[in-house]
Amino acid sequence: MTPLEFDQHHLWHPYTNVTKPGPTFRVSEAEGAWITLDDGTRLIDGMSSWWCMLHGHRNPRITKAIHDQLDKLPHVMFGGLTHDPAIELGRKLLEVAPPSMQRIFYCDSGSVAVEVGMKMAVQYQHANGQPQRSKFVTIKSGYHGDTWKAMSVCDPVTGMHHLFQGAVSIQYFIDKPSVKINDAWNDDEAANGLGELRQTLEANDDIAAFILEPIVQGTGGMYFYHPEYLNGARAICDAHGVLLIFDEIATGFGRTGKLFGTDHTEIEPDILCLGKALTGGHISFACTITNDRVALGIGNGEPGIFMHGPTFMANPLACAAAKASLEILSDGDWQTQTQRIERQMSEELAPAKTFNGVADVRVLGGIAVIEVDHTVSADQAHNLAKETGVYLRPFGKNIYTMPPFVCSPDELSQISAALLRLAQEL
Ligand code: PMP
Repeated sequence: MTPLEFDQHHLWHPYTNVTKPGPTFRVSEAEGAWITLDDGTRLIDGMSSWWCMLHGHRNPRITKAIHDQLDKLPHVMFGGLTHDPAIELGRKLLEVAPPSMQRIFYCDSGSVAVEVGMKMAVQYQHANGQPQRSKFVTIKSGYHGDTWKAMSVCDPVTGMHHLFQGAVSIQYFIDKPSVKINDAWNDDEAANGLGELRQTLEANDDIAAFILEPIVQGTGGMYFYHPEYLNGARAICDAHGVLLIFDEIATGFGRTGKLFGTDHTEIEPDILCLGKALTGGHISFACTITNDRVALGIGNGEPGIFMHGPTFMANPLACAAAKASLEILSDGDWQTQTQRIERQMSEELAPAKTFNGVADVRVLGGIAVIEVDHTVSADQAHNLAKETGVYLRPFGKNIYTMPPFVCSPDELSQISAALLRLAQEL
């Protein structure tokens, strides 16, 4: 068996059918915006490897931090023990996170960060004398991960809830915010979607928290909505004793042109989930941060302890990588980089607006989307990659890029050209 045949017979890839494995490239190395395949072909990683490789692959500051840490302490349990990488990363996170976010829980992946956040909400309500508050409300077209509770708040249709009927928890779904990010805000609650939130919270006293991705819904449709919705949602949640959870696993660390999606708003959530780009994409890592109200509420209640504690919690290699990534962000280049991506891609993708079958073209910070009026095939896009020199993996109706922030203007132009070609040919 060749290596690729072994892969096809024995290794499961994301969302694939073992009987019909999709086309797969064998990557031998990567640097900056580029991945190199085993046959020597070089492709720009237009996906930032599923949105996490912010500063490019093999960023020297991040790899050095990991190497240095590897020589000292690759891992140690976090039960009863602590270490400088966890503490130093914690300090950096508090410098950049919304000020009320004070209590950090380190974990392994985005889905687990969401599980932890949802568990915090339920434990808080329990400790607060509201044990019946164990369900969640969310907006349609959301995506929060593939573990059970996270999946229960993913869009019920694209999240395939029918497939898991009886196994996945049933939650409350309301329409996604109707006002788009650049449209004029409409104060009428019946029109802007807040009315439905208010009615749902008024009618049901079993809701622990409202969970959503602020500003940008990622996997559920690449939809950019108005920050005023979140300001309004905060007030409605407060009036009903319901917590607000922001899943910033995709929007965190500059992707929307501000450091966090929250920074587009005037409010702060009770619980914030971060992942993906936390380590600049170099190692799996995530965290859930909450305010004193929730943390102390849990701590002062029954049983007091927060019931979660993964083996690899606060892994020192991941903490060192994350600290290095935050230091790179502190230098501030991400702002000019995301402004450049936004400006250049807006110009270069504008011609797609007149293409047959294109429904919308939108760009925000480091996210550029051509939405078409039909479902596109990721495999077909894959097969064009060697011709365009850009690796893109569209889903649903969205042909999109979230490029590494370090892409040069020429690299960005190459990505734009690839997006335009996919929009014409798929
Ligand atoms: N939340 C959001 C908003 C995401 O985009 C993702 C991943 N695409 C997740 C949660 C799950 O993260 P992970 O794949 O690391 O479990």
